[in-house]
Amino acid sequence: MCCAEEVCGIGKMVYGEIEGPCPSMRFDGLKFRCGIVEAEASSGLEPKIATALAIGKGCYSERIAVEELAEGLQ
Ligand code: SF4
Repeated sequence: MCCAEEVCGIGKMVYGEIEGPCPSMRFDGLKFRCGIVEAEASSGLEPKIATALAIGKGCYSERIAVEELAEGLQ
């Protein structure tokens, strides 16, 4: 799954049944980040959402599609 194409289960709990790209996606100039995961991290809570989403374990979406999306957001 790529957040640009499909909203994950956690995103759907926040935004409802919407199509991608997920409104929580944020491009920091180098990488896409999840605003929900960032909020969890800044709250100091145990990273249950980040763990459930396997954040930091690598993206298996096609790199070219992600790079094109990043260019569109700059
Ligand atoms: S940006 Fe976050 S909430 Fe949205 S689909 Fe990706 S991982 Fe889920």
